[in-house]
Amino acid sequence: MTPEYFPCYAADHPMAHRLIGIRRLFAVLFFLTVIVTEASASLLTDSIVGQISQTEYTSYVTRLQNYPTRYYNTAGNASALGYIRDEFLGYGLSVAYDPFTYGGTTYNNVVATLPGKTNPQNVYIVGAHMDSTSNLAATNAPGADDNASGMAAVLEMAKVLSGYLFDSTIKFIGFNVEEQGLIGSKAYVDDAKASGERVLGMLNFDMIAYSGGSNSVYLAGNTGLVDALFGNAGKYTGLTPSKSYTNQYGSDHYYFHSSLFPGSTSAFAIEALPVNNSNYHKTTDTTSYLDFAYASDITRMGVATIADLAGVTAAVPEPSTYILALVAGMTVWGAVVIRRKSRLA
Ligand SMILES: [Zn+2]
Repeated sequence: MTPEYFPCYAADHPMAHRLIGIRRLFAVLFFLTVIVTEASASLLTDSIVGQISQTEYTSYVTRLQNYPTRYYNTAGNASALGYIRDEFLGYGLSVAYDPFTYGGTTYNNVVATLPGKTNPQNVYIVGAHMDSTSNLAATNAPGADDNASGMAAVLEMAKVLSGYLFDSTIKFIGFNVEEQGLIGSKAYVDDAKASGERVLGMLNFDMIAYSGGSNSVYLAGNTGLVDALFGNAGKYTGLTPSKSYTNQYGSDHYYFHSSLFPGSTSAFAIEALPVNNSNYHKTTDTTSYLDFAYASDITRMGVATIADLAGVTAAVPEPSTYILALVAGMTVWGAVVIRRKSRLA
């Protein structure tokens, strides 16, 4: 038997018709795969949002506020940092402390990484500051709303998203020494610029659990991220978002904004701006007046946005993907066999 060899694809050659037919079949399969992939990405985001747990979110906020203080230069701050690191490790993420100096002393952010599968150089960051302050900062700063509420959203998102595969890398960061002037996040951005890290988007949560009986949430930052959050608030939650395409100083998204970090974008979610929480920066900032259903909805808005932007492709493990590939492969094989048989008949 001689190998089949075509010097050209002359249309009147009998083998050319077979090739064209197979190419058509591949084209149809390709478009079907694109449609199925897009539909399944949307279904995957739906399932991710559905896994956000108010119970677990509440447990993270409670755990964080129970440190007597998380003020930047206290033992409570270091302990809380260790707790966050251990939570990230428990989700199977790789975790590292990210050291920086402030006033001659070294402090740490904590960074967990979920590596991207197809474009790992592209990075999306979900962050919140983990330190707290109050009128008695050194000894009593529960910081439940500011900002255990934001850190808990990052933890819950990390827990759920670590069960999925993404095109891009996602980093989950607890920023430190925010209350002294965005020190930890500024240090992170300086390092990212120096190393050429390709941060495409940074989503920051700061004070997201005091609803005051309202479903409103304030979104500010770069247009694309803000619009994505706004859209997902409408799609997945009962929130009433308002938006502003401005870079608001006062939290860790600030130095990630495109105007200060070219190529990067950032957005900021907060319950209200100006701040309307009367317990802000006081020893009375505790879980007792927080609205966990409301904060869970803000977390859902955020997790949908990051899942879409980072390009969710599958759950881990995801048998349906392999079944889809198997069915596609068998379809091609079957079509070729049938065509061969019909030619021989
Ligand atoms: Zn804050």
